[in-house]
Amino acid sequence: MNKVYNFSAGPAMIPKDVIYQAKKELQNWKKIGCSIMEISHRSEEFIQVALEAEKDLRDLLKIPDSFKVLFCQGGARGQFSAIPMNLLNNSGTADYINSGYWSNCAFIEAKKYCTPRSIFIKKNYNEKESLLPMNQWNINKNAAYVHYCPNETIDGLSIYEEPVFKDKIIIGDFSSVILSRVINVKNYDLIYAGAQKNIGPAGITIIIIREKLIRYSSNIVPSILDYQKISENNSMFNTPPTFSWYLSGLVFKWLKKQGGLKEIEKLNQKKSDLLYKKIDDSDFYINKIDSKNRSQMNVVFHLIDPKLNEIFLKEASELGLNYLKGHSIVGGMRASIYNAMPLEGIKSLIKFMSYFENRYG
Ligand SMILES: *Cc1c(COP(=O)(O)O)cnc(C)c1O
Repeated sequence: MNKVYNFSAGPAMIPKDVIYQAKKELQNWKKIGCSIMEISHRSEEFIQVALEAEKDLRDLLKIPDSFKVLFCQGGARGQFSAIPMNLLNNSGTADYINSGYWSNCAFIEAKKYCTPRSIFIKKNYNEKESLLPMNQWNINKNAAYVHYCPNETIDGLSIYEEPVFKDKIIIGDFSSVILSRVINVKNYDLIYAGAQKNIGPAGITIIIIREKLIRYSSNIVPSILDYQKISENNSMFNTPPTFSWYLSGLVFKWLKKQGGLKEIEKLNQKKSDLLYKKIDDSDFYINKIDSKNRSQMNVVFHLIDPKLNEIFLKEASELGLNYLKGHSIVGGMRASIYNAMPLEGIKSLIKFMSYFENRYG
């Protein structure tokens, strides 16, 4: 049996060391005689885990003191509702930058609460797909905030620029890109991400929000989505997903051990460069995204002959290269290569791609 590499888009791979540690301490966590799942979120032991997770996340992202970190539930989609409910602030509109599937989903949800504007930034030029640079985004001056998605998980498109809009509240859906590279948190007002792509198990959603945006919004915001309520209660207004919180904390410690985001960024760059190079060097595989907008996390590619898709997937998975099937709206293949995917996984995939091309190309 070959080593198994899981290219799933999410829930996705978690570092092997972390899974091993969780297994080791599962039955008798910190000598309390049971697992961490079985104790109160208000116990001293769990509060310690929660505080450490926040501290480690703050260290990794260098989050300034003027930002709060909230650990919520409801996933990124929960935030598609929470954001307009908390932040519209009597304004009837907000700007949603449309770069692909997920940013459009956020826009559709916002229509329940206001009349948002969708700003389409996908371009096709010389048969290459790219995104308009930020200085060409046509922001509406009445917008309560600007929402965008720096990594479109399904489309395989990424925005690497950091926002520079003066006097605008900037919100980023970082679900599939958080902790993959160095960012300057100060350039944003709210960053959110579901854990199941680049952090840990599904169930917990991380919100990094400028403290001054946390204020009374309105009586109709459900309490579990109300930033003020969540913040006042240290993210424990209702029972949090304690196991996801704990495991995310282990991943933060693992990231620190790898050398933090600078080192992870280098590795992610190397991993994605190798894979895109393999695709570009061949006439058998193709990716049509402009290099400046190619995702380092979700590498989408097509076989020139789609009739070979099924056999490609079958043979890959026989070798332990799993879940490479692209999302149905894009088709083809998608290799999601988040932080937990080791370089060896990329090398195995490339080796298989060459082998497959030699036989069927
Ligand atoms: C996966 C994903 C979502 C949806 O996340 P849920 O936690 O399932 O709500 C939203 N945005 C992006 C960019 C994603 O990758």
